[in-house]
Amino acid sequence: MLRPGVFIMSDNESSKYRGRRAKIIATLGPASKDAETIEELFEAGADIFRLNFSHGSHDDHAKNIAIIRAIEKKLDRPVTILMDLQGPKLRVGTFKGDKAIIKPGAPFRLDLDPTPGDDKRVCLPHPEIFAALKVGSTLLVDDGHLRLKVKECGPDYAITEAVIAGGISNRKGVNVPDVTLPIPAMTEKDKADLQFGLSQGVDWVALSFVQRPEDVAEVRAAVRGKAGVLAKLEKPSALEHLDAIVDASDAVMVARGDLGVEMPLEQVPILQKRIIRACRKRGKPVVVATQMLDSMIKSPVPTRAEASDVATAIYDSADAVMLSAETAAGQFPVRAVTTMHRIIKQVEADEHYLSIMEASRLEPDHSSPGAITAAARQVAHTLKAAAIVTFTTSGTTTLRAARERPDAPIMCITPNIVAGRRLGLVWGVHAVVGDFIHSVDDIGDVAVNAAVASGIGHEGQALVITAGMPFGKVGSTNMVRVVWIGGETGAQ
Ligand code: PEP
Repeated sequence: MLRPGVFIMSDNESSKYRGRRAKIIATLGPASKDAETIEELFEAGADIFRLNFSHGSHDDHAKNIAIIRAIEKKLDRPVTILMDLQGPKLRVGTFKGDKAIIKPGAPFRLDLDPTPGDDKRVCLPHPEIFAALKVGSTLLVDDGHLRLKVKECGPDYAITEAVIAGGISNRKGVNVPDVTLPIPAMTEKDKADLQFGLSQGVDWVALSFVQRPEDVAEVRAAVRGKAGVLAKLEKPSALEHLDAIVDASDAVMVARGDLGVEMPLEQVPILQKRIIRACRKRGKPVVVATQMLDSMIKSPVPTRAEASDVATAIYDSADAVMLSAETAAGQFPVRAVTTMHRIIKQVEADEHYLSIMEASRLEPDHSSPGAITAAARQVAHTLKAAAIVTFTTSGTTTLRAARERPDAPIMCITPNIVAGRRLGLVWGVHAVVGDFIHSVDDIGDVAVNAAVASGIGHEGQALVITAGMPFGKVGSTNMVRVVWIGGETGAQ
């Protein structure tokens, strides 16, 4: 029997489990800035909204955050917001006539002189780059469309030669792949953006151009536990410290856009798998990003290759896949989300998918919570349970369950909406926010009520509950219990 009143759930259809494990991140932008479109994106399957602080004003982002929080209230389920800091993006200055053509083999000078450049020189207003450059270093301008090799350099200049020649125009981006730059993780703009984002209650902070674990530590210190810290991996130096960066972060992104500029393109698929493996091993959520359905910026259907790329990330067991310009600036933002949702559902319905998850399962860590969580997965598998139910305050018990990649969905029940929102990024997790549970006697009824209201399972199916006792003590997962939807009758 359900005990009424222990846990009041919404019967809103939109608050139900979406029936898929991997999550979808939709970037907001000019194509998706009104409340109607954002709600349509959510209904189509967007679990996390990304605010890209390389674009837009604080006013624009504040409006989007208010819209998302209103949708969350209306639809009665936690919605996740990720703020993406621009990071130390390097740019050249301006040109007379706004652009120049750099000829192959001709010397091209970069210096600190702010006057407009021409085909012989331009300003690169970053003295710290000149301090780090060496003869033979490479500078990539405009995503590598122009490739310059350093022939001579000093503390305030570099003379280069174009290895790949071409056009250059005002404020184009510059990547310096083979040098670890002695620059702080956050610019002054990032610091101001971060304080703004935290004051608005964002759930995740993504840091661009991470080079070393110390960069993540710097951001973590500034965030002060108010949000999860996600490291974007896009620089060769970050990959040299991969394990330490994953350890230092709460989540990681394979930022394939800049990664494919800074590293040879053919290494991107291999690095994607390496980064996912490193994250899986540590139970850290991992996002695969950029150009996933790129052709949908202009076309209502993606290419077959793009469908395959999304599927590969899902088979690799990524926690989330991300849409950038497809939803921020494209002509078919909602269709892009629907398409991604359909591809993910199809892959997850493939019998090989769960066997791949099974085969890639990791040794549980040798702790009581690790052993309990592994046991819960096994019990759920044996009973073909409708869900693993995690009672959590901080989210730790739920993260552990997701690391196990169980074949049942993970329904997380938490009194802490902040934890519920943050867990929106995590594989397999459907978060339900409710009252604090004081007594272990209540958890069965609460779990059953929440499962029924979330559209998870049917009468006679089992729910496998894990929790830490006493409630509210972080990292204390120490209990597994089985309950049956519709009462004890299913327990034969
Ligand atoms: C990327 O480079 O892949 C990425 C996600 O970063 P951004 O889009 O912010 O440049």
